[in-house]
Amino acid sequence: MSNAYSVFQDCVSNAQFRNKSILDIVTKLSEQTALLNRAVSKSVTHCGCVKINAKKQYINNQKSIEENKISLDNHLDGCLCPRCKDKIEEEMGDLMFYLASLCETLDINLDDVIEQKTDFLKTFGKYSLL
Ligand SMILES: [Zn+2]
Repeated sequence: MSNAYSVFQDCVSNAQFRNKSILDIVTKLSEQTALLNRAVSKSVTHCGCVKINAKKQYINNQKSIEENKISLDNHLDGCLCPRCKDKIEEEMGDLMFYLASLCETLDINLDDVIEQKTDFLKTFGKYSLL
């Protein structure tokens, strides 16, 4: 295990003992996703460092993929303050913990997952937009 994800997965494997059941892991993974979404929402509704300004987005088939990428919006105004950024990073870390734990339980190498997805994105990434 040489890659950062493998090192992380190994650390998770050594630390994971309370929620060893696959049922605990998948439900904790779902719960952690909700906590991450909650932290992002609170940066808008409680802190206010970022605002959401959303509207329907249109993909113009007359434009190139690159032109469409530029015109599409993330609907986010502002920047995360350090406190919100720290909280969101913490929740992302916990989410990664349960994802790595799921990989470990299913005998899947997180490095392999990342590598396969990277290869896919390098090959089809632009075209998965449409
Ligand atoms: Zn904030």
